[in-house]
Amino acid sequence: MDCVRGHFILEVDMIIKDLRKIKIDNPNKHQKKSSSVECPCGSVEYKEKKETFSNGTIHIRTTCLQCGKFIKWLSHAESKIMKNEK
Ligand SMILES: [Zn+2]
Repeated sequence: MDCVRGHFILEVDMIIKDLRKIKIDNPNKHQKKSSSVECPCGSVEYKEKKETFSNGTIHIRTTCLQCGKFIKWLSHAESKIMKNEK
């Protein structure tokens, strides 16, 4: 009986360790989520492409790296390639 209980405690201990891992992982996930670009497919990986409109304004087009769909137009402040050009 004691042997069974000891095994149970060991398993609970492992679950607690797993939960701690999840807690440590979560802040990073939240940081990624705070990035305003997220594809409806759930991917936060995207590529940026600079496009100049006919009125001369520059827009940053973001495309999902997972499904290849257009996600949204990005503001210059959010764009990585615009930051690199400064
Ligand atoms: Zn996608």
